[in-house]
Amino acid sequence: MKHSDLLDIAKTFGDPVYVYDSEKIISQFNRLTNAFKGVKHLQLNYAAKALSNISILRLMNSLGSGLDTVSIQEVKLGLLAGFKPESIIYTPNGVSLEEIEEVAALGARINIDNLSILEQFGSKHPNIPVCIRINPHVMAGGNSNISVGHIDSKFGISIHQIPHLLRIVDLTKMNINGIHMHTGSDILDIDVFLYASEILFDTAKNFKNLDFIDFGSGFKVPYKEGDIETNIEELGQKLTEKFNDFCKEYGKELTLAFEPGKFLVSEAGYFLAKVNVVKQTTSTVFASIDSGFNHLIRPMLYGATHTILNISNPNGRERYYSVVGYICETDTFASNRRINEISEGDILCFKNAGAYCYTMASNYNSRFRPAEVLWHNGKAVLIRERENFEDLIRNQVDAKDIFSTKKEKAAVK
Ligand SMILES: *Cc1c(COP(=O)(O)O)cnc(C)c1O
Repeated sequence: MKHSDLLDIAKTFGDPVYVYDSEKIISQFNRLTNAFKGVKHLQLNYAAKALSNISILRLMNSLGSGLDTVSIQEVKLGLLAGFKPESIIYTPNGVSLEEIEEVAALGARINIDNLSILEQFGSKHPNIPVCIRINPHVMAGGNSNISVGHIDSKFGISIHQIPHLLRIVDLTKMNINGIHMHTGSDILDIDVFLYASEILFDTAKNFKNLDFIDFGSGFKVPYKEGDIETNIEELGQKLTEKFNDFCKEYGKELTLAFEPGKFLVSEAGYFLAKVNVVKQTTSTVFASIDSGFNHLIRPMLYGATHTILNISNPNGRERYYSVVGYICETDTFASNRRINEISEGDILCFKNAGAYCYTMASNYNSRFRPAEVLWHNGKAVLIRERENFEDLIRNQVDAKDIFSTKKEKAAVK
């Protein structure tokens, strides 16, 4: 997107504001599809938790994507956005049997990631096919919070528990229609991913009625200059070959599924916020923006690096800044970052603001969550209003009748 378009959006819709470029989402979707064009049945299920605005979900649906969900609320958002129940897959972790049953009743596909629930669900509903989430214990990804394949991970059924799993399937006579893994975010080493896929194929041989194998996601996208990203084309080529070989051996053309979140929406997003104060201290120059980790928590939560541009002064001299938020505790977006000279009132643009940004936003410090705008075919469309004071107090119950102020007490005396 052009800087002038972003500045116009900030002017029209106010700031802070999230902007999503549909063209980038579409091109990422097509890129992944093309990388696997050698697979007969490919199914991409967009991971809703990355960015769950219903207009984004509608866009994904229009592209032919399915939907990967982790809560019953995401399932319901998907249905609202027009997804057919059978194109929604539900991959929760540690949720109750009741919630899983409710989702099954809505018609979504179920993915189970522990033996306790598998046994209970299979005993009660042997006729509802389920997919099982395997933990191949292969470690992918940089940040320990987003690596989910390691031995201590709470995700998935360990490959070492396959004999127990098979016993449950056998005793309950349940039908396993899919095998799944999701080893975490930020896959850099394709060979590690392929190694995990071998484990999945080995596991799959134990089940006779499979329809699909789901390789999860975790594709790394570039966040800053010089960042390495997952080589999707190379992965496509190598995994396609392995997958097709497996299907031959298995005797059935299975569907190859992925659940990309970050890959589809991260780079499509821009977060725009105004600089309130430029503050010189003895050691640094702070640029304080009209936002905080209540709106974009990734730098504070994961140490994520988001490229920050001063789109109000793109040709200004570069200087070093610490960009900070207004939250009343440590709230740092970036330290010692070279940015074109910043003046108060300038609009800063955070890149890679599509995935895990708005969906992690909160009302901390009693601030409003920002608006969201979709840039589609050269037009800006508001897809979520900025919150207002009414929104902040909507569900609060004012227990004013149970308190009397000190003043009133004095008056009673
Ligand atoms: C979060 C999640 C994804 C998406 O991961 P990305 O790194 O954003 O692509 C996919 N599958 C499952 C089960 C997830 O929990």
